[in-house]
Amino acid sequence: MVSRVIPVDPFDLVIFGGTGDLARRKILPGLYRRFLSGQMPDEARIIAAARSEHDDQEFRDFVRAAIDEFGSPEIQIPDQIDAFLDRLSYVTVDARGDQGWPELAKKLRKKVVHAFYFSVGPGLFGDLADRLHHYGMADADARIVVEKPFGHDLASARELNETLARHFDEGQIYRIDHYLGKETVQNLMAVRFGNILFEPLWNAQYIDHIQITVAETVGVGGRGAYYDKSGAMRDMVQNHLMQLLCLIAMEPPSHFDPDAVRDEKLKVIRALDPVEPAEIVRGQYGADEDHADYLADVEDRSSRTESFIALKVHLSNWRWKGTPFYLRTGKRLRARTSEIAVVFKDPPHSIFGPQEGRRGNVLVIRLQPNEGINLRVTIKEPGPGGMRLVEVPLDMSFKEALGPDAEDIPDAYERLIMDVIRGNQTLFMRGDEVEAAWAWTDPVIHGWEERGDIPRGYDPGSSGPEDALMLMHRDGRRWREVKA
Ligand code: NAP
Repeated sequence: MVSRVIPVDPFDLVIFGGTGDLARRKILPGLYRRFLSGQMPDEARIIAAARSEHDDQEFRDFVRAAIDEFGSPEIQIPDQIDAFLDRLSYVTVDARGDQGWPELAKKLRKKVVHAFYFSVGPGLFGDLADRLHHYGMADADARIVVEKPFGHDLASARELNETLARHFDEGQIYRIDHYLGKETVQNLMAVRFGNILFEPLWNAQYIDHIQITVAETVGVGGRGAYYDKSGAMRDMVQNHLMQLLCLIAMEPPSHFDPDAVRDEKLKVIRALDPVEPAEIVRGQYGADEDHADYLADVEDRSSRTESFIALKVHLSNWRWKGTPFYLRTGKRLRARTSEIAVVFKDPPHSIFGPQEGRRGNVLVIRLQPNEGINLRVTIKEPGPGGMRLVEVPLDMSFKEALGPDAEDIPDAYERLIMDVIRGNQTLFMRGDEVEAAWAWTDPVIHGWEERGDIPRGYDPGSSGPEDALMLMHRDGRRWREVKA
C-alpha cells in the first residue's frame, strides 16, 4: 500500500513566533517532513517573523539545528535539508509596534495562499490581527492559525473572537487543537461512520460507560507560572478532552465537511449537564526522590490549582441518557498514555452461567503511544477444559497493520498546517464551539473557587488521587490501568 500525498497549492506561510519553542520543536521540523514527502510545491515559501534581530542565514541555522534535534534519524538528509532551508526567510517584526510590517507585506507574493500562524503568546493574537489589517495583509483570502489557549474563560474567549472577527471572517480563522490532527482521532470518525458494525450499538442501550484518559509522566517543568494560572481543567479538559468527547458522542454528520461536523460537535457540548461537585476530583502531585512537588514547581505553597482532574460527565440527549463519560487527565502519572475506552454492557443473559473475570467488550482507541485500535472480545478458552470464556484483543496497531506507510503518518501539526493551506477547517474549532466549551467549564471552576476546594495530594507515578478511583468504584466500575 502506498500512501497518497495530496499536493497543496503554492503558499506563503508566515510563522509569527518562528523563533519560539513550538516552532522549533513541532512546526518547522514538521514542515520539513511535508517538504520531504513531496507535499510542498516548488512555489511554497515560509517566512518566520519574531521580535529578535536575525538575518535569513541565522534563522536557517536555527532551523537546521531544530531538525537535527527533533527530526528522526531517517530524515537527516543534508541535500534535502538545504533545499528546504532555501524556502525559508526571516523578518524582524514587533507585534506591538511598527517595526518590520511593511517589509513583511512586501515579501508576500500575489496569487498564492497567504497563511499567518500565530505561534506567539495569546496576549499578542489581537495585536497581530490588527496589524495584519492595518498593513493590508488581511485580505479576503488570507487565513490565520491561532494557537491555544483560546481565552481562559468565556468572557476572554468571546472578546478574542470579537477581536479576530473585526478583520477576519470565521471561514478564515483556524483555531488549533492539535489533538484533532492526530491520526487516531480522525480514525475515530472513520471507525464510527465508515463501518455499519458499531453505529447500531453506539448508544446508552449498549454502552455502559466511556472513559477518556490523557496521562502524562512529566510535571509542569519550566511552565510552572503559566500552568498555575490555568490548571488541568483549563489546559486539557476544556479543549482536548472535550474535543475527544465530542467526536465519540456526536451524531453522524450529513457530510464530512467542516460545518456539518462542527455543528454536530457543538450539539454535544450544549447537551452536557452541569457537573456536580461530588463528581469531580482534583489533585496535585507530591514529591518523590527525584522531583519536587507541584507546589514547589509553581513556587507557590498556597496554590490551589489542580495538576490532575477526574470528572464524571453526563449528556442529556436521547443517545446518551444514562451512559456516563469519565474523563481524567493529569501530570506525573504512572505512564504517558492517551486513550478512549468504550465499555459495552454485558449480554442481557449469559447462557454460560457466571464466569470469573469477564468484563464484556471494550473498544480502546489509543492516541499515544503506538496509535491504534483494540477491541476486546470474548472467546472460548482453547483446550478440553469445557466451555470456559476468555477475553482476547482484536488488536490493530497502525504500525503493524499498515507497515511502512504508518511510519509516514504526519505529526498532528503537519497535517493541520496542510489543512490550512488546503482551506479545510474540519479539524479546527469554530468560535461558537470554543465559547460553548467555556460556558460549560466556567461554572465548574467558579464552583470550586467559591467553595475553596483544595486539591488532594497524589503520589508521583500513581494513577492519581485515591478519590479518583472511588469516583468509579462507587458506581461499580473501574478505571483502566494507566500504562504505556
Ligand atoms: P515561546 O517559546 O515563548 O516563543 C514566543 C515567540 O513569540 C518567540 O518567537 C518570540 O520572538 C515571539 N514574540 C514574543 N513577543 C513578540 C512580539 N512583541 N512581536 C513579535 N514576536 C514576538 O512560546 P511557544 O512555547 O513557542 O508558544 C507559542 C504559542 O503556542 C503560545 O500561544 C503557546 O500557548 C502555544 N503552544 C505552545 C506549545 C509548546 O509546546 N511550546 C504547545 C501548545 C501551544 P523572540 O524570541 O524573537 O522574542
